[in-house]
Amino acid sequence: MPHPDSLQPYRDRRSADRTPEPAGRLTPVPGSRIFVVQKHDATNLHWDFRLELDGVLKSWAVPKGPSTDPRDKRLAVTTEDHPLAYRNFEGTIPEGEYGAGTVLVWDRGTYRVLTERDDRAADPETAIEKGHIAVWLDGEKLKGGYALTRTRGRGEKSQWLLVKMRDEEADARRNPVSTQPESVISGRTLEEIAEEEG
Ligand code: MN
Repeated sequence: MPHPDSLQPYRDRRSADRTPEPAGRLTPVPGSRIFVVQKHDATNLHWDFRLELDGVLKSWAVPKGPSTDPRDKRLAVTTEDHPLAYRNFEGTIPEGEYGAGTVLVWDRGTYRVLTERDDRAADPETAIEKGHIAVWLDGEKLKGGYALTRTRGRGEKSQWLLVKMRDEEADARRNPVSTQPESVISGRTLEEIAEEEG
């Protein structure tokens, strides 16, 4: 289990009575590891890349979104752990609240850890702590290996690079961030969600 205060920064930033986002609770799901990418039209548009780990979602904000081209190095900035229930959140965070803006579930699926240590899959928590984790994504839009490597800082707001690994799922011609903008849950665009819920 993560440190009991792992979700405290999440809770501290939100007024549970004013935002439609889920409350922060630890909800481990044994045996499964999910990932989710949420497109978030906040002050600056970004894609939140989240990996389930011990009942929370480890989170990075990726300003340009994930690429399927191994030549692209996408900046990914660590943000606070999110509750697992956040993986299904789509909607509009009201103005004046932390992260105000519209969120859609851009991709989702499961992942497994590729990072090896002593010929075995490394413990992902240790891998993240040490600043390098490689994962195999089995999503609807994103598939194959992705490497996350820390380049600057520690903890929250530390800078990482998210890079597609060279494997059979790499494809320099695909650009799902622009060609597949819609939600994998509802099929809606950010504009449609904002209109319906704003
Ligand atoms: Mn965000």
